[in-house]
Amino acid sequence: MGVPFVDLKPDHRALEGEIMEAVRKIILQTNFILGEDVKLFEQDFAEYCGRKYAIGVDSGLSALKILLRAYEIGEGDEVIIPANTFVATAAAVTFAGARPVLVDIKPGTYNIDVDKIEAAITERTRAIMPVHLYGIPVDMDPLLEIAKKHNLIVIEDTAQGHGALYKGRRAGSFGDAAGFSFYPAKNLGAAGDAGAIVTDDEQIADRCRWLRNCGSKEKYLHTMEPYNHRLDTIQAAILKIKLPHLDGWSEQRRQAANLYNELLADTEVVTPAIPADTEPVWHLYVVRTKYRAELQKHLTERGIGTAIHYPIPVHEQPFYMENVPLGYKHGDFPVTEEYAAEILSLPMYPAITEAEIREVVDAIKSFVPNKAEMITA
Ligand SMILES: *Cc1c(COP(=O)(O)O)cnc(C)c1O
Repeated sequence: MGVPFVDLKPDHRALEGEIMEAVRKIILQTNFILGEDVKLFEQDFAEYCGRKYAIGVDSGLSALKILLRAYEIGEGDEVIIPANTFVATAAAVTFAGARPVLVDIKPGTYNIDVDKIEAAITERTRAIMPVHLYGIPVDMDPLLEIAKKHNLIVIEDTAQGHGALYKGRRAGSFGDAAGFSFYPAKNLGAAGDAGAIVTDDEQIADRCRWLRNCGSKEKYLHTMEPYNHRLDTIQAAILKIKLPHLDGWSEQRRQAANLYNELLADTEVVTPAIPADTEPVWHLYVVRTKYRAELQKHLTERGIGTAIHYPIPVHEQPFYMENVPLGYKHGDFPVTEEYAAEILSLPMYPAITEAEIREVVDAIKSFVPNKAEMITA
């Protein structure tokens, strides 16, 4: 039968009428740029995140880039990020002209090892950018304490953590500000590229608003770099319709992850840990195995979609090895490097059924590893 890696069609089918009507209205009104729906979605999203301000932008990467500019982080500055993340986290920092300083992940988890952050701080460090990777919240309390002690800005990369809870509060509400992505496959996805910034700081919110729109405080008065990173009205309208469903979708993802964890408990694969005080939103459900290549092939042959997030750590990406050297080499981040060779993302989306999860699990259980092909790190 097979199970796709991701299938968002059922969620969209359920909202089809509402979405089509909203899009139709905008097309007929032609208020495509910074129309009313952008403001309305920003209000809803700020409230959802427990923040004062939200600023809609055109992607998650733009959100992080704009934030670094708004905080005037650039040349000569350092920003601490996890070694295990999507390349955009590092790209925002190098775009700003600052240096990403990588910190390994905590063994047994996929997130930054908070205990290793202080050793990475120098007199040039301006900010920490934790990533709630796979939708699993970072241990924010000790991280915020370190930031406070060293007077550092905290920008949460919440591109995979929409609505995830840490001690009952939503990811994106802990740092000075946070960046979100609404790339279609993210937990809250647009019908194209989109993103948002959230913060409680009025001055930062204003600067982000100017930076997204040609650096203009008012029309044709450009006080900051003239970028264009606006959120389309159509995307905002679609996001506004989808937002009230996000917590329900997160709950479906949580049930799927719990069932996976339960059914995979006595198998060859290592299931993801759920840290204390967190309610992850499972953007991705990632297991580990020493026999990844073989297992992935076995699952592909049975029509089960899988992916790897991410096969090559940031410091080993060709761009950062050749064009913008970060000053790292293989072996510098042993946990990230070991896990990069073992991680495998299994099918995960709100509409996944119990039968589909059982099919994936049965396929994993029918896998007999050839020990000769085991990864030896
Ligand atoms: C998706 C993602 C981004 C970038 O978002 P885009 O909207 O694709 O630009 C940044 N950080 C992380 C961790 C992501 O997963």
